[in-house]
Amino acid sequence: MSMYFYPPSVEELISYLNKLPGVGPKTAQRLALHLLNTREADAVGLARAITATREKVRRCAVCGNLTDDEVCPVCSDEQRDASVICVVEHPGDCIAMERTGQFNGLYHVLHGALSPMEGIGPAELNMDSLMQRLRGGNIREVVMATNTGVEGEATALYLARLIKPLGIRVSRLAYGVAVGGDLEYTDEVTLGRALAGRSDI
Ligand SMILES: [Zn+2]
Repeated sequence: MSMYFYPPSVEELISYLNKLPGVGPKTAQRLALHLLNTREADAVGLARAITATREKVRRCAVCGNLTDDEVCPVCSDEQRDASVICVVEHPGDCIAMERTGQFNGLYHVLHGALSPMEGIGPAELNMDSLMQRLRGGNIREVVMATNTGVEGEATALYLARLIKPLGIRVSRLAYGVAVGGDLEYTDEVTLGRALAGRSDI
């Protein structure tokens, strides 16, 4: 009920902050008041960064990862091994893989995992473009690096069934330590080990 006392503009800010993941009403209030008290350059800079990001960033036409360009820097890098594609759920997973320093192939970002409970089927994910890539190019291996939960496993198996008939090797990261964990929160040593120990599925 304390929100009643804030001016409408502040209430609006609070309600937007409240929509962010992990931000409840109390935290939203605290953040809103912080933004009002912080240096103007920081608050305005934040607003500008959000607007600029939303205007500039899009999905790479090849891999679906976030990029400021038509094709992302990884896909346009000719030094990378274009015959290996690592399939991940989220853009952050690519960052995690890059941090291992052990992967020199390309990526494909699904933007989620299969989840019948949430109504997420193959059509809701960036899967068609993956299959097009695989049919079109000289790909010798697809590394399934979806998360280790039920949905990530189901997604990896679903794709493996589609990909293997194309004569392409499909492997899965050798998780073990971070079972149930998200790739993007797995440390680079564990992830590097999981990559090195990957096996065919
Ligand atoms: Zn790309």
